[in-house]
Amino acid sequence: MKAYLSIGGNIGDRGKNLAEVCRRLREHPQLKLLKESSIFETKPWGNLDQPDFWNQVLEIETDLPPLDLLELCQKIENELGRKRIIHWGPRTVDIDILTYDNREYKDDRLTLPHPRMEERAFVLAPLREIAPEYVLPSGRRIEEVSGEGEVRKL
Ligand code: ATP
Ligand code: CA
Ligand code: CA
Repeated sequence: MKAYLSIGGNIGDRGKNLAEVCRRLREHPQLKLLKESSIFETKPWGNLDQPDFWNQVLEIETDLPPLDLLELCQKIENELGRKRIIHWGPRTVDIDILTYDNREYKDDRLTLPHPRMEERAFVLAPLREIAPEYVLPSGRRIEEVSGEGEVRKL
């Protein structure tokens, strides 16, 4: 199954943390890291009084079912020392599943596709880079949608 992940963080060595996420994903036997976007620097969303984020989008191929993939993402977040103190506040690394094989899913742990992905320039800009022909869950082509927020390719 093909899935897209959005990864980002704004604490510590941001480049190193993103690279560490990719390294751990690559190590996983049931997962292949197919594409990795450039890093985009992003003004924080919501709570503005914090450092800029570095964000990336990854294309993966996996036979892990969605909830197992979520569990893996959360395990990596925890291992990299993510602190859940303030909602939309600073974090070492956040890993969100954007889409999983065009699947729709909703319970209290997981919503697919990610309900806010089409609003966010820090998701759309890197996704457009690695999947320029992508058709978003809403049916719009990614080249037609830019989302909100300021992003800058590093
Ligand atoms: P946002 O979802 O708006 O980007 P956030 O990433 O800061 O916010 P978190 O605190 O990281 O929010 O996650 C809250 C919960 O969202 C997680 O515990 C997880 O169970 C749930 N969740 C629901 N859908 C998804 C998804 N598609 N990817 C990752 N987590 C999800
Ligand atoms: Ca998020
Ligand atoms: Ca998250």
